[in-house]
Amino acid sequence: TPAPPAEPRTKSRVVVLGSGWGAVAFIKNVDPRMFGEDGPYELVLVSPRNYMLYTPLLPSAVGGVVSENSIVESIRSLMHDKGRYYEARATGIDPASRTLTCVKQFCEVCAARMDNGADVVHTDVDHTFTVPYDVLLCSVGAVSATFGIPGVYEHCWFLKSMEDAQKLRKHIGKALEQAALPDVTPEQRKKMLSFVVVGGGPTGVELAAELHDLMTEDVAREMPHILDDVSITLVDGLDSLLNSFHAEIQTYAGEVFNRSGINLRLGCKVTAVHVGKIEVQRKDGSADVVPFGTCVWATGIAMHPLVAALQAQLPAEVQGSRRGLLVDPNLRVMGSQGTIFCLGDAAVTGATTKTALPPTAQVARQQGEYLAALFSHHRLGLQEQPEPATGDLVPLPAGAKPFQYLHLGSLAYLGNQKGVMDLPFKTPFLKTLRGYLGGQTWRTLETFMQISPRTRWMVFMDWVRAAMFGRNVSDI
Ligand code: FAD
Ligand code: NAD
Repeated sequence: TPAPPAEPRTKSRVVVLGSGWGAVAFIKNVDPRMFGEDGPYELVLVSPRNYMLYTPLLPSAVGGVVSENSIVESIRSLMHDKGRYYEARATGIDPASRTLTCVKQFCEVCAARMDNGADVVHTDVDHTFTVPYDVLLCSVGAVSATFGIPGVYEHCWFLKSMEDAQKLRKHIGKALEQAALPDVTPEQRKKMLSFVVVGGGPTGVELAAELHDLMTEDVAREMPHILDDVSITLVDGLDSLLNSFHAEIQTYAGEVFNRSGINLRLGCKVTAVHVGKIEVQRKDGSADVVPFGTCVWATGIAMHPLVAALQAQLPAEVQGSRRGLLVDPNLRVMGSQGTIFCLGDAAVTGATTKTALPPTAQVARQQGEYLAALFSHHRLGLQEQPEPATGDLVPLPAGAKPFQYLHLGSLAYLGNQKGVMDLPFKTPFLKTLRGYLGGQTWRTLETFMQISPRTRWMVFMDWVRAAMFGRNVSDI
């Protein structure tokens, strides 16, 4: 029997890709009435992770001071009844037919998870499905940058996702126990307990700080016989730490790390990673080798492969960016005829990469809030156009204001209860906050800025638990 004719669609289908900072700020703030029975939209969210991760506390989860469950919130509870959620990974975007191809995250026939970009091919089951959209909000973030340096994927740990943090935390626990075994020689023990972090941006700095606290507070108490063999080294190609922060903070961070006994190898660019050692090139061109038991790679971010594939389908004049999709002042992807919005790490605002906003949670969150307001106050939808369509298929409503970023300052934890904050004020005396006060400000803000009241409570309780009883250094 022939299929019944499709009912005319009365709602625009808004599909959101991702469940991170940008996507969640959108779904939390968008007016629920717009997705109700009488609203103009239907909402679908596609992401391989059915939770939002509070990334700023990932280093603390590795150190064990906050628990992993405390910094994630279920995407279902965040969406309420605003729309549907599909646990799947988008593998392709076809802007011409406005269709997504998605691959399931789990297949009961293959009994396997299909993470890490690996398309499972060991059965003839089709793991893919398609999702049509009228308007797409792309907030898939970015991936770790390796700059094609040989050996990084094979020998380094990363800190981008919850899985990365879990694996790294367990590995550190195992490394400590292995080093404490009786048949290990002093030289082997030193090597096993040498932790090297590559990248002196905020991720690398905060991870080194958390490792330092773990070693000096908890390993010192529970495994004092191995403490003297522990070393933490931070390697960066530039001459200072935290280069996106105020110059005073860069100097201060270096001083704090020197006093804490964290070895700084600045001005050393890593050129290759081998089993147990990295090759570095100093500024003067000379080469050196840094041995490691554990090496964590934290050298920033690169374009998500899905975003790169979409960019390749756009007109040549908007293909210039190597970090993300070029967006206009209203966050519409240039060359997409208004059908695709992009936010967060996947988007590049401004005329050039240099004038673009930094890839931070703060930017992604504000962009998500901006789009929520845009979709709540206006009815954005697909307009019929004669073929070939030349104008915007989803025109911007008159009066739609452009996105404006308000920088609220930047924070970083340096260990030993110390922290830094780049304040957003222009006054000469109020540019930075450093030291113990900076550390307490960091802790307070990271608690209050949590995703939900539940995670706020759990993170607060984690700080109290860690202060009273210390961290759990087991490798569970
Ligand atoms: P993300 O938050 O990364 O979310 C991307 C989402 O897309 C995820 O849910 C992911 O599962 C999903 N996704 C991925 N691939 C697909 C696909 N193919 N299909 C569908 N969905 C997909 N910024 C700050 O401002 N302050 C901080 O203190 C800070 N600390 C950080 C600490 C660490 C360790 C890290 C790694 C980053 C930190 N950042 C911080 C940066 C901040 O996390 C990012 O800028 C922010 O997460 C970007 O938000 P986003 O929505 O673009 O992407
Ligand atoms: P980053 O880009 O800020 O820093 C990467 C560092 O790696 C740079 O200092 C760079 O010189 C170094 N590097 C690159 N290649 C190298 C090589 N081959 N050898 C040695 N060093 C090398 O990256 P990140 O720290 O991962 O941060 C990514 C984004 O997330 C940034 O926008 C950052 O602001 C944001 N973030 C913010 C916070 C915070 O505010 N507390 C915390 C984490 C991340």
